Amino acid sequence: MSSHVDGNALAGTLSEVFRTDMTTAVCCCDGCGETTTLASEMVYGTHGIVVRCRSCDDVLITLVETPDRVVLSFPGVSSMSVERGPDAQSEGEY
Ligand SMILES: [Zn+2]
Repeated sequence: MSSHVDGNALAGTLSEVFRTDMTTAVCCCDGCGETTTLASEMVYGTHGIVVRCRSCDDVLITLVETPDRVVLSFPGVSSMSVERGPDAQSEGEY
């Protein structure tokens, strides 16, 4: 396996897709059940990005950028939770 960086490397690309800082999202690995922030996971990439579980090495997320799209797949994530910002919390009150 080649060298990797941590999940903070995803911040720029994911900020183009999601309105919140996804590096603080909490992922649950479908393979081993490890639950941790995306920033803590292992990120590999040359032609696209592969995010692997730091505990069991399963592929959690793949990300491919084209000139006009970001293509995300979550093959190894059983759940992901994202903290709502103050704006979202007020929007949720009906
Ligand atoms: Zn795992």
